[in-house]
Amino acid sequence: MASIEISAVAKSFGPFAVLHGIDLDIADSEFIVLVGPSGCGKSTLLRMIAGLESVTAGEISIDGRRVNELAPKDRDIAMVFQSYALYPHMSVADNMSYSLRLRKTAKEKIAAMVSDAGAKLGLAPLMERRPKALSGGQRQRVAMGRAIVRQPKAFLFDEPLSNLDARLREQMRAEIKKLHADLGATSIYVTHDQIEAMTLADRIVAMHGGVVQQVGAPLDLYDRPANLFVAGFIGSPA
Ligand code: ADP
Ligand code: MG
Repeated sequence: MASIEISAVAKSFGPFAVLHGIDLDIADSEFIVLVGPSGCGKSTLLRMIAGLESVTAGEISIDGRRVNELAPKDRDIAMVFQSYALYPHMSVADNMSYSLRLRKTAKEKIAAMVSDAGAKLGLAPLMERRPKALSGGQRQRVAMGRAIVRQPKAFLFDEPLSNLDARLREQMRAEIKKLHADLGATSIYVTHDQIEAMTLADRIVAMHGGVVQQVGAPLDLYDRPANLFVAGFIGSPA
């Protein structure tokens, strides 16, 4: 697992500045939940950490090593999106094993890792199905399975449950919590859902206007919101 350090990270798209200098030190195994209004740069920050977007200024380090110029595949980070981004023509098992096959991992090892992740996620009876024959919740589990089998140092989740109905969201939330307890992987999780933020986070990072407004344990933000934006999001009576 990994620590992630974000120092004075800024991002502009042409003349349009989105992030103005983000500082954030994430400890090994920590579960960070990132909240903030639509368009405040949450996905952009995740994509920079994953290496899918260049960094305009500042530095991102993983385990003390600067990664600004490192290709995504060399960062050992897995990303789980809201749109599952599964390969439609591949079975569940093949979707999950794809990245391992690219890495030329031994066949027996791939089979063991895929079946282990499938069991953890309740996908064992579905391994030969195509994505179109799965429910939304099942698809999201496959997307998580695909991330898990890579045994990444860190997971980045970009609103992974926002396409699911309330009951499934609650169930998946519990599963994500359990997976984090089992794997202990450093995680950064973006959500609009207050309950997800309050129940999953070791620390919540509240962003607004391209800067971090407040960082703290869920109850700290609830009891002592730094400003009205944070109070409004967390639902505290400030
Ligand atoms: P969030 O995930 O918090 O909703 P995003 O990180 O997706 O926000 O986007 C932050 C801002 O950056 C938005 O105003 C968005 O339009 C802009 N943006 C994101 N990606 C690009 C891009 N590739 N080119 C230009 N502008 C972008
Ligand atoms: Mg987003």
